[in-house]
Amino acid sequence: MQTDYISYHRPSIGEEEIAEVVATLRSGWITSGGKARQFEQEFAERVEAPFALAVNSCTSALHLALAALNIGPGDEVITTPLTFCATVNTILHTGATPVLADIDGTGNIDPASIAARITARTRAIVPVHYAGLPCDLDAIWDLAEEHGLKVVEDAAHALGATYSGAPIGAPVSGRRSDAVAFSFYATKNITTGEGGMVTTACQELAERMRRLCLHGISRDAWGRYADRGNWYYQVEECGFKYNLSDIQAAIGIHQLRRLDEFTEARARYANLYQTAFADVEEVEIPAVPPGRTHCWHLYPLRLDLTRLDIHRAQFIQELQNRGVGASVHFIPIPLHPFFSPYAGLPHNRCERALQLYPRLVSLPLYPAMTEAQVCRVIDTVKEIVSAHQLTRSVHASMHAAAGWRGKAAS
Ligand SMILES: *Cc1c(COP(=O)(O)O)cnc(C)c1O
Repeated sequence: MQTDYISYHRPSIGEEEIAEVVATLRSGWITSGGKARQFEQEFAERVEAPFALAVNSCTSALHLALAALNIGPGDEVITTPLTFCATVNTILHTGATPVLADIDGTGNIDPASIAARITARTRAIVPVHYAGLPCDLDAIWDLAEEHGLKVVEDAAHALGATYSGAPIGAPVSGRRSDAVAFSFYATKNITTGEGGMVTTACQELAERMRRLCLHGISRDAWGRYADRGNWYYQVEECGFKYNLSDIQAAIGIHQLRRLDEFTEARARYANLYQTAFADVEEVEIPAVPPGRTHCWHLYPLRLDLTRLDIHRAQFIQELQNRGVGASVHFIPIPLHPFFSPYAGLPHNRCERALQLYPRLVSLPLYPAMTEAQVCRVIDTVKEIVSAHQLTRSVHASMHAAAGWRGKAAS
């Protein structure tokens, strides 16, 4: 492997983050305390949400929101097949049944497919802003209003993205989701190593999530039982252990301050990719519908497999051979064994997600890259494409053999 290998991801951790972690370690308070509260407040302001709760992962954030909304056995929750397993695992953890709606051309959940899969048991929708492109939230909120459903956004990719001019998590024309879950995993747009945040505008939901986050111990109880001494508490319900430590929050506070810088760098690099690949016939670039800004957590390029003589795995191997790391987002949920009891059911059919999957290649895209590295990725992709493109005549005859002309004529 070359020494100038471009890895698929590298986090951007600055001296401020390091100094704040050291100061926290020296302070004597290392679990959730002042730093976690500060991170929550600054995050809430940033995404224009009244309440924010810092947790140890986005997975915890999703589970807490669903649990606090009393989603449970007998309920159905509609989500997307093109996501990380956490989105569906957390639905299963509540005892509810996940139902998959198919994606649209953007890779996001298709509101028309959601509408077709709503039943009397449907209680919630969990949309995922795939790769950092906001979903069609207005269409999702319309469905939620019409059918009395909760909406919990999986915004693991979406910190820094905007919908109708507002950051993900903020209200749009007075409407917003019940809860929004963010991730600070190492590869996400800001990181605390591991970590997450859940925001809401509902005070009751915020309080329930805070209680469930720490074993079901009520904060209120501390005040209520103050006359018994500060050792006394009551566990009011069976909760979880999902809090974020001050050591992690110390990193998050400074990462959040760099969010605009990170988002700008991602957009600049993504635009280089978009421009460079726009007229390469063998690939298709991600679309960005009007009214939304993409925060480019991922750059999922789509191969046109009818114009290449190699498959996606070979394409990624060719990148690797030339010193460029790549990945795939995501292996669709129906293809994982944990989902097999549900995968065959008609209401979980996701043809478009399954058709897109073999074409997806996520290219490296992160602020710690240099522009020269982005240009090398571009040159490398173009080099592989020219080495493996099917000539026009071969391409035409393959289409003819596959019956494409017949279809077009009928
Ligand atoms: C990363 C990710 C998660 C989980 O985030 P963690 O903080 O690692 O729990 C959930 N959903 C999606 C779409 C993700 O990419």
